[in-house]
Amino acid sequence: MTERTAETTGPRLGGIFDYAPAPESRSIVDIKSSYGLFIGGEFVDSVDGKPFKTISPATEEVLAEVTEAGPRDVDRAVSAARAAYTADWARMRAADRSKYLFRIARIIQERSRELAVLESLDNGKPIRESRDVDIPLVAAHFFYYAGWADKLPYAGFGPNPRPLGVAGQVIPWNFPLLMLAWKIAPALACGNTVVLKPAETTPLTALAFAEICQQADLPPGVVNIVTGAGDTGRALVEHPDVDKVAFTGSTEVGRLIARSVAGSDKKVTLELGGKAANIIFDDAAIDQAVEGIVNGIFFNQGHVCCAGSRLLVQESVYDEVLSSLKRRLGTLRVGDPLDKNTDIGAINSAEQLDRIKKLSEIGEEEGAERWSPPCELPDRGFWFAPTIFTGVSQAHRIAREEIFGPVLSVLTFRTPDEAVEKANNTPYGLSAGVWTEKGSRILSIAQRLRAGVVWANTFNKFDPSSPFGGYKESGYGREGGRHGLEAYLDV
Ligand code: NAP
Ligand code: MG
Repeated sequence: MTERTAETTGPRLGGIFDYAPAPESRSIVDIKSSYGLFIGGEFVDSVDGKPFKTISPATEEVLAEVTEAGPRDVDRAVSAARAAYTADWARMRAADRSKYLFRIARIIQERSRELAVLESLDNGKPIRESRDVDIPLVAAHFFYYAGWADKLPYAGFGPNPRPLGVAGQVIPWNFPLLMLAWKIAPALACGNTVVLKPAETTPLTALAFAEICQQADLPPGVVNIVTGAGDTGRALVEHPDVDKVAFTGSTEVGRLIARSVAGSDKKVTLELGGKAANIIFDDAAIDQAVEGIVNGIFFNQGHVCCAGSRLLVQESVYDEVLSSLKRRLGTLRVGDPLDKNTDIGAINSAEQLDRIKKLSEIGEEEGAERWSPPCELPDRGFWFAPTIFTGVSQAHRIAREEIFGPVLSVLTFRTPDEAVEKANNTPYGLSAGVWTEKGSRILSIAQRLRAGVVWANTFNKFDPSSPFGGYKESGYGREGGRHGLEAYLDV
């Protein structure tokens, strides 16, 4: 690891400003030793699945045994969702559907600390983020769509928009409960019922959500949770009685899904990968921009589809930005996700760590210069130090491929045209950031960027009222906001 120097970290005052550990207690969560599948309002044993273990990526400790649902399990879940759709949910007064969603939102708030601890344990993300970002946004999503449930005739899709039926939903591991909320809240608000498959490595908060559905007295079968891996996901999206497929994950799997549903009348939304440009102009407030760069790529260990993984810095401020950025990285704390002081937690899985390591090695082989601040990584678990690559050219793989980890590729530009050209030079188009003092420049650059979300003088800000989604290989369809209703309505 790199030597700590005054230039990169600032003066060290004998460690007197180091923080003492402040671990959040895990006694608030009650993790069962094993979980069945949540079908028809109950936890049931699998008929053709098998058990697998979910671990804490920070310690490799086994947290629980969960069930890998087989095709017959998936079939049972889809049947339960169909029965609930026909008998209850789509026929219920919209105002009553709304009450259930409000109830779920309030229970999420009441159980927020427990959900945050559970999410950090299973996923490895810092408690500061699960507590202050993920879980509040989860509740906000349910509140937001609860509000829409009885106002659909005014959403701009005609006077009587109809639900689609049964939604099969497959989500990734980077924001487990938040992605569940993005999927389930609009689906239920529109009168659909759902079968959701969480990611293999992060099933626990989805199972806690199943308990919340019971607690809210949600009619049985409206929400079904089938845990498992890729095969379970495939069985779900290919099931003939699924009317709508909603997927968030890699572009590779998104392609497979698009192919498998082609020719059927299933409605599909795909939220896939990204390689966002974060563009710093020379008139930007540099200190703020540096905070935005850090938040853009090191938030959630960089496991963020819209991460600002390509930094584009105007040449005239390159030295200033880089030295501030390195100094700031020297203050990031990497370690125990349950410690309230931790900025960067664990990498979610051994496979993801391998992928990050491999692409970083390729970065070095292709001639980019690698830098990390000094930091001690724990012995057990999956860890990767925050990393910056400079001297990156557009042809480098680390400038083109999604690393999905705490690794930033830095490129430079001279003119606004060059910035736009480089920013758009990617197969993806999910998000981008622009940092400048000039409002007129923000507007003109944002219009020319082929990205679903463009943040100006901020990054990674989310709100349930704001639509989210991509261009090109980042997928199609929008989630969030009024736009997000369309994906779950027959329009
Ligand atoms: P992934 O491998 O595509 O997995 C996503 C989900 O699909 C998981 O639940 C996975 O199960 C399941 N799956 C795997 N193969 C499948 C198949 N053949 N059919 C149906 N489902 C299948 O992606 P990941 O590695 O979990 O997540 C990282 C990727 O997600 C990144 O590329 C990131 O950019 C993208 N992402 C996009 C957004 C967005 O909104 N655009 C948000 C978050 C993440 P397993 O858990 O068993 O693999
Ligand atoms: Mg796990």
